[in-house]
Amino acid sequence: MKFYNYDIVFQEIPDETALAINLTNCPNRCDGCHSPHLWQDIGQELTEDVLRNLLDKYRQMITCVCLMGGDGQRNEVESFAKYIRENTSLKMAWYSGREQLPSNLESFDYVKLGRYVPACGGLKSRTTNQRLFKIEENKMEDITARFWK
Ligand code: SF4
Repeated sequence: MKFYNYDIVFQEIPDETALAINLTNCPNRCDGCHSPHLWQDIGQELTEDVLRNLLDKYRQMITCVCLMGGDGQRNEVESFAKYIRENTSLKMAWYSGREQLPSNLESFDYVKLGRYVPACGGLKSRTTNQRLFKIEENKMEDITARFWK
């Protein structure tokens, strides 16, 4: 599982300051994709050492780690989430471009589902097909409307 870059973001997950890591090799090929460079198999391997270095640097600033993409390596995304859950007190989020929930839902605090459809718009659009769920005690709450206020 490789990543292209990362950033500290404030709007992707409501009420959280997230270290967003942009994964590459995206297989979804959505029409109107905002980041077609992420379709390529490029970037740096996201190893535990790399993650530890990122957390050493940013842990004091963030409340959440958010993986952006990774639908071609879903097992690795799920292992990563488990690692975060077991080794940190940070929340774990995943922006997937598919409709399929992770099998280990208990390792996630937030999951965004759905491909990008230009006619529907992204999460900030009231007509979006995408959904952001908050997960607590294995219950899912659709909080997509938080982006519309
Ligand atoms: S999931 Fe995201 S990165 Fe992948 S093709 Fe769709 S919009 Fe682009």
